[in-house]
Amino acid sequence: MLNDTIVAISSPIGTGAIGVVRISGNHVKNIIDQALKRKKYTPKKMYYGWLYNKEGEKVDEITWVYHSQPHSYTGEDMLEIFCHGGKLITYAVFNTIIKYGARQALPGEFTKRAVLNGKMDLIKAEAVNNVITSETEISLKASFNQLKNALSEKINNIKNSLLNISAQIEVEMDYPDDIEFEDHNLKNKLVHIVNSMDQLLKEADNGIIAVEGVRTVIVGKPNSGKSTLLNAFLRKDRAIVTDIPGTTRDTIEENLNINGIYLKLIDTAGIRYTEDTLERVGIERTINSIKNSHLILFVLDGTTPFTQEDEIIYTKLNELGDKIVIIVLNKSDSPNFKESNYLSLKQKNQNDFVIISAKNGEIKTLEDKIYEKFFEKVNIEEPTLTNQRQKMTLESSKESVLNAINSLEKGFSNDVIMYDIRKALEKIYELSGENYTEQLLDKIFSTFCVGK
Ligand code: GDP
Repeated sequence: MLNDTIVAISSPIGTGAIGVVRISGNHVKNIIDQALKRKKYTPKKMYYGWLYNKEGEKVDEITWVYHSQPHSYTGEDMLEIFCHGGKLITYAVFNTIIKYGARQALPGEFTKRAVLNGKMDLIKAEAVNNVITSETEISLKASFNQLKNALSEKINNIKNSLLNISAQIEVEMDYPDDIEFEDHNLKNKLVHIVNSMDQLLKEADNGIIAVEGVRTVIVGKPNSGKSTLLNAFLRKDRAIVTDIPGTTRDTIEENLNINGIYLKLIDTAGIRYTEDTLERVGIERTINSIKNSHLILFVLDGTTPFTQEDEIIYTKLNELGDKIVIIVLNKSDSPNFKESNYLSLKQKNQNDFVIISAKNGEIKTLEDKIYEKFFEKVNIEEPTLTNQRQKMTLESSKESVLNAINSLEKGFSNDVIMYDIRKALEKIYELSGENYTEQLLDKIFSTFCVGK
């Protein structure tokens, strides 16, 4: 039920100066009346007082602010309580509000209500989450651009253009004799829409990389030093997980911040579980994780010559085409290290070749190379799409506009063209959240933190 009253601790749990407890819904005024014992108050003003439990005992000395609907974050009546910041006292405040009939908010439920009440679109809601979870400046910049409504504006423009066109066609359908239909003009307008969509889609992958991270896999033959490199990245000597592969977690992801580039190491499970990833887990699995990645680190053992196994991996990687591959010659610290074994490989891949010692943590050459390869890509000034959902929905909308252009060129009836325009619009509504399914919202908001 939408308007039941929800409560959450919105500040991080721990010891701090101030704890924040947020409440939203129909019962807020009752709670102020009973728990804060205040009859007269104005919205958006801060008050000082005590929070009382149902037995009339003081729970904490607090300040609080009331926001009246619809002028609040959620669009409902809201109360924000600023209590003492200790873990126990914050929970005591929270539990007191539960006793007054509120229920614990689900992850992202405040923001979900904001979307459902028309306070923000889904794109901005996603930006809110991204801003909170951003761990690099670049990710924050891309998310913040979205938060400032810059992306929503672009999507809105596309929506309005589609609405205008659909109105134009409807008039033509209603009054076929009175209005001269300008096919040419209509086609231009549709092409213009496709161009705007293409502009956004062109930068989408970079936007996604900026916010979600460069999906990276480490590959290489057994003993080349993949786990050691992983540990060097993590700068911690983590024990290698010995769970049996496939029976527990199939993939483990590690997130890193490399000079401000957000790196998501995927399928590190494979690296840890087994000495010979390629043989035991099977090359297919490795290839699969490679397919889903943006960056591949191909680790070679500099103390041995380039082997047939290396060759097999190298050939596979070359077949992949569009991925960025960095060749990482490892073990430079060893007396047996021979760069000369790899000279021809180095010559062929001048720009994508680095030498490291994973064991000694000497991986700066690699980190710098990653920065060099991705900084330009992800340091985006213009607002962009920042997740797969947005990209796929816009792509699907574009598909329908292209179908409409096609129908127009073939001289099909207005009904047929209108069908595609409506489909294109539906997808835009889905993108902005004006058209949603509970499933979609649940999926999006489940990644939020409680209290946001
Ligand atoms: P993986 O099978 O590719 O994950 O390889 P490991 O990380 O388990 O390393 C295999 C062996 O190579 C281990 O004995 C490591 O200590 C050693 N090794 C890894 N990196 C280096 C390095 O930079 N220098 C030296 N000398 N040995 C390394």
